[in-house]
Amino acid sequence: MPFSEAVDSRVLLTRLRATLAEPGGGQERLDRIVRLVGQGLAADVCSIYLRRDDMLELSATEGLNPSSVHRSRLRVGQGLVGQIAESAEPLSTTDASHTRGWRYLPETGEEGLTSFLGVPIQRLGEVLGVLVVQNRDPREYADDETYALEVVAMVIAEMAELGAFVAPGTMDRPHRLPFFVRGLVGQEGVAEGTVVLHEPQIVISQPISDDPERERARLRAGIEALRAEVDEMLAADYLTASGEHRDVLNAYRMFANDKGWVRRIEASIDLGLAAEVAVEKEQSATRTRMSRAADPYLRERLHDLDDLSNRLLRLLSGGDQMKARDLPPDAILVARNIGPGELLDYGRGLRGVVLEEGSVGSHAAIVARALAIPLVIQATRLTREAMSGDAILVDGDTGNVHLRPEETVAKAFRDKIEMLHEAQAAYAALRDKPATTRDGVTVSLYMNAGLMADLPSLPKCGALGVGLFRTELQFLIRTTVPKRSELAALYARILDAARDKPVVFRTLDIGSDKVLPYMKRADEPNPALGWRAIRVGLDRPGIMRMQVQALIRGARGRPVSIMFPFVADAAEFEAARALALDELAREQSLGRTVPGTLRIGAMLETPSLAFAPDSFFRTTDFISIGGNDLKQFFFAADRENELVRRRYDMLSSSFLHFLEAIVRRCAAHGTPLSFCGEDAGRPIEALALSAIGFRSLSMRPASIGPVKALLRKVDLAQARAVLDAARAAGQRSVRPALEAWLNEIGVGPGA
Ligand code: PEP
Ligand code: MG
Repeated sequence: MPFSEAVDSRVLLTRLRATLAEPGGGQERLDRIVRLVGQGLAADVCSIYLRRDDMLELSATEGLNPSSVHRSRLRVGQGLVGQIAESAEPLSTTDASHTRGWRYLPETGEEGLTSFLGVPIQRLGEVLGVLVVQNRDPREYADDETYALEVVAMVIAEMAELGAFVAPGTMDRPHRLPFFVRGLVGQEGVAEGTVVLHEPQIVISQPISDDPERERARLRAGIEALRAEVDEMLAADYLTASGEHRDVLNAYRMFANDKGWVRRIEASIDLGLAAEVAVEKEQSATRTRMSRAADPYLRERLHDLDDLSNRLLRLLSGGDQMKARDLPPDAILVARNIGPGELLDYGRGLRGVVLEEGSVGSHAAIVARALAIPLVIQATRLTREAMSGDAILVDGDTGNVHLRPEETVAKAFRDKIEMLHEAQAAYAALRDKPATTRDGVTVSLYMNAGLMADLPSLPKCGALGVGLFRTELQFLIRTTVPKRSELAALYARILDAARDKPVVFRTLDIGSDKVLPYMKRADEPNPALGWRAIRVGLDRPGIMRMQVQALIRGARGRPVSIMFPFVADAAEFEAARALALDELAREQSLGRTVPGTLRIGAMLETPSLAFAPDSFFRTTDFISIGGNDLKQFFFAADRENELVRRRYDMLSSSFLHFLEAIVRRCAAHGTPLSFCGEDAGRPIEALALSAIGFRSLSMRPASIGPVKALLRKVDLAQARAVLDAARAAGQRSVRPALEAWLNEIGVGPGA
């Protein structure tokens, strides 16, 4: 039947509201919905498929064979219905059987149905099912029909969330049994505590409204409150103090004032949706875009918008986000994902964070690291399983998360925490002692940092200074290039916070996985081998010059060290060094205060630099080995790729041999050498590095205690002998020999 009149979504929703208000069980409701929608859209068929795990089950139909209900099933991804569930996007066609992926289900009797329109039934980005209409005659469904179907799907999603379609007696979500998930390590550490859901389940009992004006007014009030909240956060003291997060909040403010966003929400309200559901509809679309965005910057911005929608939802539903003061003392935050601003909002009141999504390099992970709390990412399904108040154990060392754990699991976990606490107390006692081995060799231990918020760790961990300050983090959490004066002020604050301890600033290491929002991104086949770090700096000297100026000014007469990342050729270092010296001379000629001393060094992160001419080793003031990159290039194993990144051991005889050659070259020229990759923070690796001649290591603050404790217990000459014997015996890795020796002398793990 041709469809002449435009569909009136408001009428459809008003009828739906009346229908849903009638008494009846879950199946009856579904049957009524398909009947009503089929009529409303003049469709020959209307069906609802609901999702159970990976299957979509035909759960109600008007027009298909009734006996196929609860019998016909499609996997997610299979057939047109499965494709919609997989992509979370509508799909329409005038010739279904010739559309890619079409799958004929004979039991449904759907032959002859040529036109097809399906939309996902989704709530906050989670697809719960698919709503479909079909027609025999070829028919092009209009945009407003798709929209109407989406709006109905939103209502069905809300009802499903309330358990409206679940047969009595079945418990879709037990929320009682223990649940275990293995995620990925975002930040090491362990914690036991109580779940605080970042997005408390918002229950919307009446998704359809009969008074759009009232809903619009509620939305207006909600948006006002949201804007005020963001302004308040911007004004908060601790944010001013740690400056770098202001830009994230400025991005929030921009979204909160985005007219397009508000207009789209209002359009859904005008059709009859309650304000909360209209916000959720917009948010679902954001999440679908987010899951597809390949560009890390765009993904982060979409997360910011998602973050903001959550705030708005909480304001609309009257449920306020838990403020730091209301948190239980052992709060562990569980979220699908979280923006850095929201995480900072919880402040230091958290014991740990578990995210269902997230990545090691995300801004939230950076903040979690600065807060020094365990973080597990990619913990699948956790937000669906967890309830606020549940007991939870988070093991950031392994990525394991136990929700509502059995007592035996909890006990074993507590034993581990107890042991770690004892060890921490022992490390604290060593804070002011040097990392001197039994045979009198002292290794200088420094910490790595990247945010102002890292600096408080410096006095606590007993580091001698900051061996690597990753300056790109400030650039990454901003939406525009920072001004020179802002950077100079920040660098000055960092040096203030370090007191008289040295800080080695690494210039911008961008490119590869670290993409700046305000810099055009080159599409590169192998970004890790591409246009990054010093290569970008030399090709676009403007930013490099500005950063060097900011460092010189920020020093305010104090000594400062600058280090250039990812140098592959001595000529690159020469050019960068000349630029820095040029800036120094210019500042001097302008009569400005210049640093007491300016040390200019290079990071050795590519094997080629180890073979640079002698003149390089003589010119550079120091060399720091970026082991994370050096290892990935030495073994040709991508450090971001889970399939290969753990495959090669840093303690392999071949890698140690290579490192030792660098130690020898530096010693021959008197070039100070340190190692600042992650491996420096692992006690056995740190021991091996010291044994082959490193006298300076830089690591995460939490690693300083364990590394120092081990070094102080061993005789380095003996360690060296063990290592040499293992290599002479042709062992591929010296790890087993070192471990066996440590056990033998009683300083093995846990000793
Ligand atoms: C390294 O590569 O080891 C390093 C310290 O730098 P980043 O991890 O920031 O690349
Ligand atoms: Mg590196």
